[in-house]
Amino acid sequence: SEKTPRILSIQSHVVSGYVGNKSATFPLQLLGFEVDAINSVQLSNHTNYKVFKGQVLNDKDLEDLVDGLAQNNLDNYTHLLTGYVVCDPVMGDNGRMYVPEPLKEIYKTEIVPLADILTPNQFELELLSGIKISTMSDLQTAVKELHKAGPETVAISSTEIDDKLIAIFSAIKNNALIKIDIPKIPSNFTGSGDLFAALFLAHMYLQDNMKDAIEKTVNSLHSVLLKTYEYSQVCKDEDSQPARKIELRLIQSKSCIENPEAHLLAEPF
Ligand code: ATP
Ligand code: PLP
Ligand code: MG
Ligand code: MG
Repeated sequence: SEKTPRILSIQSHVVSGYVGNKSATFPLQLLGFEVDAINSVQLSNHTNYKVFKGQVLNDKDLEDLVDGLAQNNLDNYTHLLTGYVVCDPVMGDNGRMYVPEPLKEIYKTEIVPLADILTPNQFELELLSGIKISTMSDLQTAVKELHKAGPETVAISSTEIDDKLIAIFSAIKNNALIKIDIPKIPSNFTGSGDLFAALFLAHMYLQDNMKDAIEKTVNSLHSVLLKTYEYSQVCKDEDSQPARKIELRLIQSKSCIENPEAHLLAEPF
């Protein structure tokens, strides 16, 4: 029988809600992956709430965990997924960095070159490429710069050019550049970027080609966000903060993750 893919996922943990490993683990397991999670931080809840409290895993703690895995020969992974560290270079959004500035150079010179698949948002793409993006042509130039640094596949989960929401996927192999238009839902989600990276990793492995991987990823994600948005509109709990009402409805979206419908279609760009 074929070997089960086994992912080491190094991301945030939140006790309540869904970002980081909480947003990636369940969908990956549903799609048939073994997921071993290392929690890079453990917080009460994500950082868009009024208050958040918790602990950060330091380098010694991380080394200990990896050492334990290695001594038991458990460090035989097929994939590595990281948020606050490879693949998804979480640095900021909407013009604001949420990690310390020196991390930008470390990402550029040490981490990005190690990634096969990179999933920056538009702001992170600007930081990593040094190119300010206002047109599609800027975007293409910036993506080429990132390929030069190493990653075979670059997925920009969302760009807002001319007020339209588009996801862009680029593969060095066969020079493919693919886009997919995404209808904008009038809300701000948290954990959606992390879910995007997890689903894209899964479908790049499960599907035969990048077009299918993109369509499955974006359609699953969009269904989860729609379900989440609908719930936020009907949720009557007066004690809930806005951040609480818009927590991803992952478990309720089980079937959209297992069998995404093909509403949104990818096209050459
Ligand atoms: P990061 O995780 O660093 O914030 P990002 O900014 O790309 O990356 P999101 O803004 O959460 O992450 O977007 C991830 C995906 O979620 C996008 O591809 C898009 O499909 C979807 N998405 C997020 N917000 C919306 C929205 N308001 N309407 C429709 N789709 C959305
Ligand atoms: N991890 C933590 C602890 C966060 O607070 C956030 C955002 O607030 C994220 C990760 C990233 O979430 P997203 O997937 O929306 O980028
Ligand atoms: Mg974002
Ligand atoms: Mg993210």
